[in-house]
Amino acid sequence: MILQEKGCNMEEAQQPKAVDRKKRVQRLKKIILLGLTIGIVVPWVLCIILFGLVLRMNDAQKNMSSQLLQLEELIKEQQTSHRQEYESLRDKLLSEETELEELANRVTDEIGRVEAAASVEAEPSVQKPESSHKVYLTFDDGPSVHTNEILDILKNYHVKATFFVLGKEDEDSKQALQRIVEEGHSLGMHSYDHQYSNIYSSREAFAADFEKIQDYLFQVTGVTSKLYRFPGGSSNTVTDVDIHVFIDYLKEQNTTYFDWNISSGDAAKISLSAETIVENATRGIESRPVSVILFHDAAGRESTVQALPEIIERIQAMEGTEILPITEETEPVQHVKGDE
Ligand SMILES: [Zn+2]
Repeated sequence: MILQEKGCNMEEAQQPKAVDRKKRVQRLKKIILLGLTIGIVVPWVLCIILFGLVLRMNDAQKNMSSQLLQLEELIKEQQTSHRQEYESLRDKLLSEETELEELANRVTDEIGRVEAAASVEAEPSVQKPESSHKVYLTFDDGPSVHTNEILDILKNYHVKATFFVLGKEDEDSKQALQRIVEEGHSLGMHSYDHQYSNIYSSREAFAADFEKIQDYLFQVTGVTSKLYRFPGGSSNTVTDVDIHVFIDYLKEQNTTYFDWNISSGDAAKISLSAETIVENATRGIESRPVSVILFHDAAGRESTVQALPEIIERIQAMEGTEILPITEETEPVQHVKGDE
């Protein structure tokens, strides 16, 4: 019985151990299963999640890249439109600049036209009286002790005259000749020595005298005179040789000779009063288109100097008169013509 109980007790003691082992095995199985489950399922799940994430990121990337592309296109479009705007603005500016230049040119042209028109309009009003009555004051036989006085008077009245001079070589005469030229008067020749018997004796003598005075004046003043007044005039009665011989010679020298159509009478043997000289010098000016008045710039001709201011004032007071110096272009007054 005791053995039976002992045997029974042994069996009873062995039974809980088997149950425990079974339980432990089952627990281990569970753990292994759980571990396997965790080891296999979790990575898969994670893989799936990651795959999903990757897919989403891909999508997002695609979206972003497409958005970027759109942005790029937008920027490009904007750049293009800005460039076009810039170009059109630049073109506009250029065209406006061109327009402005054209406008400036037109304004300049217009100013030129207005100025030209003004000068054209102004000229006739100045020239009208000039073409009505041109007056030339001419002084023969100088330089003299009166030349500077005459030049002072002319300067005072802003008048230019013509001096037909002789070959006087003293210093005062040289200075007077230079002053005549410097102050804008015309320098003409009246022979070198004024000796009728010499200059009118032959063509050769006349030519020698002519060359002498022309060279002398050039030497003193630098002016080659092309204006001549015959001593005694082209209608003089002192020459034995035909005056046309000398006229032809002057023509060969491209020199124009000028006589006069008004004589002041200041060369008269008995000196005239200043009043008479004024009357003589101003007579008939208003009835002629051209008046060439003969005066003398010579010692002893004080009344000419005295008369001169009054003569100029009277001429200037006449309507349509202008006092001018003789030039190579002046239509000459000649007593004897070359072709007669
Ligand atoms: Zn003379």
